[in-house]
Amino acid sequence: MSPNATATADTTLNPTARLSADAVVVGGGAAGLAAAIALGRSRRNVVLIDAGEPRNAPSAGAHNVLGHEGISPLELLARGRAEAEGYGVRIIPGRATGASGALDAFTIEVDGGALHVDARRVILATGLVDDLPDVPGVREAWGHSVLHCPFCHGWEMRDKRIAVLGRNENAVHQVMLFRQLSERVTLFLHDAPEPTDEQWEQLAALGVGVVTPRVERVVVAGSQVTAVEIEGGRPFVVDAVVVAPRFIASTSLYEALGGERTITPFGEQVTAEGRGATAIPGVYVAGNAGDPMAMIAGAAASGVMAGAAAHGDLAAADLAALVHARTRPFSAAMEAANSAAVLGDRIHGV
Ligand SMILES: Cc1cc2nc3c(=O)[nH]c(=O)nc-3n(C[C@H](O)[C@H](O)[C@H](O)COP(=O)(O)OP(=O)(O)OC[C@H]3O[C@@H](n4cnc5c(N)ncnc54)[C@H](O)[C@@H]3O)c2cc1C
Repeated sequence: MSPNATATADTTLNPTARLSADAVVVGGGAAGLAAAIALGRSRRNVVLIDAGEPRNAPSAGAHNVLGHEGISPLELLARGRAEAEGYGVRIIPGRATGASGALDAFTIEVDGGALHVDARRVILATGLVDDLPDVPGVREAWGHSVLHCPFCHGWEMRDKRIAVLGRNENAVHQVMLFRQLSERVTLFLHDAPEPTDEQWEQLAALGVGVVTPRVERVVVAGSQVTAVEIEGGRPFVVDAVVVAPRFIASTSLYEALGGERTITPFGEQVTAEGRGATAIPGVYVAGNAGDPMAMIAGAAASGVMAGAAAHGDLAAADLAALVHARTRPFSAAMEAANSAAVLGDRIHGV
């Protein structure tokens, strides 16, 4: 049994519960769990806080996950949690609601203060929220037959009737990727800009029809799309709808620690260097919070790198402290001798 069980129970019994750790990981998706495992395997004391809402939860299966092709997203994370707990990681179900402090002395507030976690390093692996187009039916079928990623669900939609619901200048790019999977792709311009002359040529070359009136709603039966209805109510029968979410990373904790979110044409994120180090010393980012394009394998890879980087940083700090402790008696003696000499000089000079 992981120490987590005790820690979780403590938070409900004791509103001022406090835990301390070498590293606190916020977010228990692929990125956060991978970071926690890298740290745990290096015998670091790790607390992971997770609100339990991974981005791909609606999907039936996760694809392009080497060795686990088609696994249920929740099953994948359950395995990751068991692996992390096997290395002593304490997993706290809950939401990090505040962050404060600085290098070596961060504090993460959980569930509005029910728990505080003090830690020397912070890894933010909070993922992102997909801001979907505000069209009726889109949300109901999201992750099932309303899709965004050809690599995640494209194969499953091969040869089907696919509607691309345009939102921005990326629409033709989406058409190109999905056209590789099916010959029956239609572009509904909706919010996308009018294609350029070159794009009209490309669409014609791909044999893709373009519908210009705005889309009024996506017709669904349960989570299955059946049609796209345009202004005036004309329906187009389709099997799947491709949308372009805005990728809004959860940056509030980073901002609470003094960081600045990065706004991109496609959403918001935390910017970091290759191994996840942010502009704030001791704060790392991993997964979709720092890279909205990262799929599961990429998110896990960035988690491992951030965990390894945080551990390396801690190891260097620990070593510096050890060296300091070893040489301190000598330094103290030198300081004492020096002050005696100064004192002696003074006495001599009097
Ligand atoms: C519908 C859909 C299907 C997808 N299918 C695939 C696929 O087949 N293959 C693939 O490779 N990729 C797929 N993806 C992409 C995949 O979801 C991401 O690559 C992956 O989830 C990124 O992992 P992450 O750990 O960064 O974020 P997430 O998996 O989203 O995990 C973030 C975690 O942090 C938690 N959290 C957030 N804020 C807080 C907070 N303040 N306190 C505590 N916890 C917090 C969340 O609740 C969540 O549990 C899909 C995405 C979508 C939207």
